[in-house]
Amino acid sequence: MSLDQTYDPAAFRMDGQRVLELLTEHLESCAERGLDVLPVISPAALLEELQAPFPARPDSSEPQSEILVAQLRRLLAHSNHLHHPGYIGHQISVPIPAAALVELTNALLSNGMAVFEMGQIQTVMERRVVEFLCSAVGYGEDSGGVLTHGGSLGNFTALLAARQAQAGHDVWTEGQREPMAVLVSEQAHYCIARSVQAMGWGAQGAWPVATDDQFRLDPSDLPRALEAAWAAGRRVIAVVGSACSTATGSFDPLIEIADFCRAHHLWFHVDGAHGASLAMSAKYKDRLSGIERADSVVWDLHKMLGLPALNTAVLFREERRSYEAFAQEASYLFESTSPEEQWFNLGQRTMECTKRGMAVTAYCMFQLLGTAWFGEHIDRLMELTCVLEGMIEAAEDFEIACPGQANILCFRHRPRGVGDGRELDNHQARLRRELVESGEFYIVQARLRGEAWLRVTMMNPMTTREDLGRLLGSLRRLANG
Ligand SMILES: *Cc1c(COP(=O)(O)O)cnc(C)c1O
Repeated sequence: MSLDQTYDPAAFRMDGQRVLELLTEHLESCAERGLDVLPVISPAALLEELQAPFPARPDSSEPQSEILVAQLRRLLAHSNHLHHPGYIGHQISVPIPAAALVELTNALLSNGMAVFEMGQIQTVMERRVVEFLCSAVGYGEDSGGVLTHGGSLGNFTALLAARQAQAGHDVWTEGQREPMAVLVSEQAHYCIARSVQAMGWGAQGAWPVATDDQFRLDPSDLPRALEAAWAAGRRVIAVVGSACSTATGSFDPLIEIADFCRAHHLWFHVDGAHGASLAMSAKYKDRLSGIERADSVVWDLHKMLGLPALNTAVLFREERRSYEAFAQEASYLFESTSPEEQWFNLGQRTMECTKRGMAVTAYCMFQLLGTAWFGEHIDRLMELTCVLEGMIEAAEDFEIACPGQANILCFRHRPRGVGDGRELDNHQARLRRELVESGEFYIVQARLRGEAWLRVTMMNPMTTREDLGRLLGSLRRLANG
C-alpha cells in the first residue's frame, strides 16, 4: 500500500464501515451471552499464535479492510469481553459504546494537550469537566485540578503536591531533608505505597493504621500511628483515606480523618479512584460525607462512570496546590508568567507531557447522556450488589466477608464437609478457576486477613438478577462436580 493510499479518506470510510459492523456484531454476541467472558488461554499458546513475523509488505492481493478485520477479529476473540453480562470481575468500566466513538475521533485528532495551542478545545473541555467534578464532590470556587492517566498516577500526583505543601521548604528543588510518611490503612491500594517509595521514603513511607471489622480505617488508631511514626523519626505529612478500598469496597470514615488532619495540620488525601463516582448518585453520595474537606481527591472516570480506560481526575480543594506537584519550569513550553495565569497550559501540572484528550470523552458523554444518567448507572450497579448480597445471606452454604458498601462484594462458598483454613481457601481457588474456565462468568479473588475469598465487582448494567442466581448455581454445581 502506498503512502497516499494509507491516508486516503475513501479507504478510511471503507475500513471504518467494516470495523463498525464487526464491533456491532461483537456487542450483539456479548448481549446474547454467546461467547466466553474471558477466553482462557496460556501465555505460551498465545505467543505461539502470534509468532508470524511482521511482513515487510503485506499481501497486496488482499484488500486492506480484510487484513484489518482479520487482525481485529483475533483481538476480539482473545480479549476479556466486558460487555458480556457475566463480566463482574475487575473494576474497569463496561465502556459506553458511544464513548468509544469519541475515543476514535480523539485518536484521529491526536491533539497533545501539554500546551494550549496543541489542544485548545480539549483543554477548555478539561477545565469544564474538572469544574463539574469539583462541584460534585462539594468543593468551592477555589478548587481545580487536572486529568491524568489512571488512579495510580493520580495518587502519585496528589502526594507530590502534598509533599511540596507540607515539607516546610522547597523540597522539589532542594530535595528531601528527612524521611517522611503518610498514614494509611493496610487496605489501601498498593499504588499509595508505590508512590511514597518512588519518592524515596522506603517501605515505612506508608505507615499502617488499623482497620475495623468491615475493613475501614479505624480512626481511634490514628493518634497511636502518628506517635509511632514520629518516634521512628518520620515527618508525617498526610493521611490517606480510601473511598472506597479496592478489595472490599469499604469507605474509610472521612469526617473523622478530616478532623484528625485539621487538628494535626496534615494534608488530607482521599483515594476515591473507585468510589468518588458515588458523588453523582443522589441516593448514595452520603457515603462520601467529609470528602469536601479533603485537600485532594483522586477519581477514576473509567471505573463506575462507564468511560473507557484510562481517565482519571486529580482534584484539589485549592487549585493553586495543583501547580506544586511538579514545580519545575520548562521554558521552551511555558511562558514565564506566574503559573496560576496559565491554567490552560496543563502540562505544568501533570507527569505527562503529551496527553490524550481524556476530557473530550467525559465532556461529550455528560452532554450526550446528561449528568443524571450517571447517577442512575451507579444506582443500578449498587442495587445489583445488594441483590447478590441478599441471595448470599439467604443461602446456607455461602457467606459474605463484610456487608457491601459499594458495588464490590467478597464472599465464599462454605459447604458442609469442607474444613476451615487451607482446605476452605483451596476450595475458593478451585471454584474460581473452574468458573472462569467455564466462560460463563468472570470473577476474581481477594485475600483478606490471610483468607481466600471470591470477589465480584458489579460493573455491567446489563447483568441481571437471573445472572446472579445462575452465578451461585454454577458455583454450587462446580463444588459438587
Ligand atoms: C483502581 C484503584 C486504584 C488504581 O487506579 P488505576 O486507574 O488502576 O491506576 C487506586 N486506588 C483505588 C482505591 C482503586 O480502586
